[in-house]
Amino acid sequence: ISKIAVLTSGGDAPGMNPCIRAVVRTALYNGLEVVGVRQGYKGLIENDMYDMQSRSVSNILSLGGTILKTARCLPFKEDEGMATAYKHLKEHGIDALVVIGGDGTFTGALRFSKKYPDISVIGVPGTIDNDLCGSTYTLGFDTATNTVIEAIDKIRDTADAHDRLFFIEVMGRDSGAIALRAGISCGAEAILLPEKQTAIEDLIKNLKDGSSNKKSSSIVIVAEGDKNGGVYDVAKAVQKEVKDYDIKVTILGHLQRGGSPSSFDRILGSRLGYAAVNALIAGETQKMVGLQANHILLTSLEDALNHHEFKLEADLLEMADILSI
Ligand code: ADP
Repeated sequence: ISKIAVLTSGGDAPGMNPCIRAVVRTALYNGLEVVGVRQGYKGLIENDMYDMQSRSVSNILSLGGTILKTARCLPFKEDEGMATAYKHLKEHGIDALVVIGGDGTFTGALRFSKKYPDISVIGVPGTIDNDLCGSTYTLGFDTATNTVIEAIDKIRDTADAHDRLFFIEVMGRDSGAIALRAGISCGAEAILLPEKQTAIEDLIKNLKDGSSNKKSSSIVIVAEGDKNGGVYDVAKAVQKEVKDYDIKVTILGHLQRGGSPSSFDRILGSRLGYAAVNALIAGETQKMVGLQANHILLTSLEDALNHHEFKLEADLLEMADILSI
C-alpha cells in the first residue's frame, strides 16, 4: 500500500483524536501518504478530504470528539453512493482505508470492501457502547463511564441531602455496558439493562428493603434500552408503591459523549491506530483491531459484528446485586 485514508463515522467517541494522530504518524513513519476524510462516508462521497502531515495532528490528544468530524450518511448504503466513494478514493490514489466507528460503520466498511477488494480496510472500534466482539474495550467507553460516574456522584450528594430516590438514564440503546460499570462504581441500588430484564415488582421490593434498611438515598440507573418502557414510566410505576421517597428523574444525555479522553482511551486510541496501520502494511484487510487480554489482536469484521455472541460479564452482574444490599 502507498496511501491511506482515515475517517471517523457514526457516533463520536472520546479517544478518536488520539487514534487519528496515531494513524497519521505511523503511516508517515512508514513512508506512506495519509489523507483525512471529513464527516465519515459523507466525505468519501462528496470528495471532502485533505492531505495530512505530522503537524495536522498536533495538540489533539486531549480533545474530545473528532477533528475529522463524523456524520451519518444514508447514500453510502446504496450501490451508487459506494461507487462514487470508490471513484474518489481511486482519483486520489488511495489504496487503504482506516475506519473508526461502531457497528454501522463496520457494516458499511465490510460491504464496501467486498465490492471493491482492491481497497484494503481496517476497522477501529470507536463507540462508547462497548458492544463489539473482539475488543474487551472500545474507544470512548472508559471516558464516557467516567463522565457518567462524575455526574452520578454529584446527584448522590443532593439525593442524600433530601432523602430522594433518583432514576438516572444513561446511554446504551442496545448495550448496558455503561449502566453496569457506572452502577458498580457509584453504588447504585439497582441497574436496569437491556441484557437482563428486571421486573418492576422486584425493583420495588428491592427499594422498599433498602428503605427499611435505613438507606437515606437511592440511585437507580436505567440504560436507554431497558425494556420496561423508559425511565419516566419506571419512575412513575415505582412512585405509586414507594411513598417514603420523593422520586426524581435525570437523563444524562449527550454530555456522556463529550470531554477530554481518559488516559485509558488516549493509550487505547494510540495503540489501535498504530496497529491498524501496521495491519494494512502487513497486507491485512476486512479486519478490526481490538484489545484482548492487553494485546492488540485482529478479528474479522464479520466476527466483530456478531452481537449475538456479545455478553455483559456475568460476574459483574452478580456482584453488582450483592454489593448494593
Ligand atoms: P455507528 O458506526 O456508530 O454504529 P451508524 O449506525 O450511524 O453508527 O453507522 C455509521 C454509518 O455507517 C452510516 O451513517 C452509514 O453511512 C454507514 N452504514 C451503516 N450501515 C450500513 C450498511 N448496511 N451499508 C452501508 N453503510 C452502512
